[in-house]
Amino acid sequence: MVVLACALLVVLAVVTDWRARKQQLQEAGATSHNIALALARHADDTFKQADTTLIFLAERLRHDERKPASLRELEVFLAQQTVELPQLHGLFVIDKDGKWLLNSRQYQAGHVNSRDREYYLYHRQHEDLSPHISMPVQSRANGEWVVTISRRLNGADGSFDGVVMAAIRLAYFSKFYENFDIGEGGAVILAGNEGTLLVRRPLRNDSIGKSLAQAAIFRDHAAINASGSARIRSSQDGVIRINSYRHLDRYPLFVAAALSEQEVLASWRSDVLLHVSGLIVLLSLLVWLGGRLIRQIELRVEAENAANHAREHVEFLNRTLQNLATQDGLTGLGNRRCFDEEMVRALRRCAREGKPLALIMLDVDFFKRYNDTYGHLAGDECLRKLSQAIRQGQKREGDLAARYGGEELVLMLPDCDGGNAVAIAEETLARIRALQLPHQGNPNGIVTVSAGVAVLDPVSEDDVAESLIGQADKALYLAKSTGRDRVCTSGASTGAAQLMPA
Ligand code: GH3
Ligand code: MG
Ligand code: MG
Repeated sequence: MVVLACALLVVLAVVTDWRARKQQLQEAGATSHNIALALARHADDTFKQADTTLIFLAERLRHDERKPASLRELEVFLAQQTVELPQLHGLFVIDKDGKWLLNSRQYQAGHVNSRDREYYLYHRQHEDLSPHISMPVQSRANGEWVVTISRRLNGADGSFDGVVMAAIRLAYFSKFYENFDIGEGGAVILAGNEGTLLVRRPLRNDSIGKSLAQAAIFRDHAAINASGSARIRSSQDGVIRINSYRHLDRYPLFVAAALSEQEVLASWRSDVLLHVSGLIVLLSLLVWLGGRLIRQIELRVEAENAANHAREHVEFLNRTLQNLATQDGLTGLGNRRCFDEEMVRALRRCAREGKPLALIMLDVDFFKRYNDTYGHLAGDECLRKLSQAIRQGQKREGDLAARYGGEELVLMLPDCDGGNAVAIAEETLARIRALQLPHQGNPNGIVTVSAGVAVLDPVSEDDVAESLIGQADKALYLAKSTGRDRVCTSGASTGAAQLMPA
């Protein structure tokens, strides 16, 4: 039970903590998913706002004649827009030769040329009018890192007529990304669909413009799926992170948010530590108490065993005492006291049940002479042998062979009628004769016995032991006086007044 209780506690603790861990990780997954969603929406909106301005600008330039007055007016509008939209580094209109026609930063137009810029070359080569997002570049104006979104301008005949471009400050994204609680080990990135890193938190010197081609989040996930999540061990710092990534709806960019698994599980770890400590205390207590309980039970069992032993010993002693009190020391038969008690009991029982009670009284013939001839010790041995033969007259439970006194022995037979009693007496005498114990003083040459049989049939309430014994004694006297080595019966029990040989 103690082991089972301990095992149950451990299993419960493991299951509970395992589930708590799973839940913690699920929550972290949801958090990174939500962060990625927010970043994607933010980036989408940021580019869309700039792009909307570009669309408007392209429209104006298509319809308006490029007179200096209207161009100045447009330049004021560009400056206003740049103030309105904090993500903007600047808005630029570049003519078909790459010269700056208009710029929101109010530089002297014409001094700067963007002929070598990637976006200019792209639009000159592609007739496509959709927006184009460039690799990150450092501003020619102040060295700030920007990424450009640009659209091609077409002349009336559809030929290349320049570019409208918005430079978006990457610092704008960095600043926004500072707002998220991603812990020490967390990271967020904004990157182009082809794997160029634009913004990263935490910021590293060489981050901007770096290729993500070998990064697992891009190579195995973002390059393949529109959105999703992944558990990735960083090849750089070995930290396992829970990543969520998402491509923007309208622009060829994607964002990713990652949380450090170790940080996510920090509170869970301290909880587990607490549980384990508590569990160890509880288990120790349980084992200690269980041990004590088991010891107590063992002690009790030992005490019970000792008590049982003692009782058995006392019972054995009692039985021995009982035997000593009721057994005859020489012959092993019941002694006189035993015979007297059993006689009273048998009389009562037979009277109650209306059954007969027979008594056979036996006396060794010429035993005095035996002693004289062979000695008293030999006489004792002879008595023992005779007793064994007489004991075989006990056929049923309740029958009793006893030493009445000296060399006089009795067989008490409850529920036995005269006929059977005589038969048993005859058998006994025959058994003694068969022993062939030599006896010079006996005319037969062997030890013989005389028997007197008396029966109370049935026993009545008034019958007493003395009368039955007296009758048996008389029958025995008759056996002696009519030649010995025979059975005589008293007729009193069957109604006959006289004694007769059996
Ligand atoms: P009878 O045939 O008439 O019975 O002759 P008996 O010699 O047997 O006469 P009785 O029955 O009077 O004899 C009793 C003798 O039995 C007396 C005594 O020496 C002997 N005796 C009685 N008890 C013991 C005993 O415990 N051991 C021995 N060895 N002899 C005993
Ligand atoms: Mg005698
Ligand atoms: Mg005798």
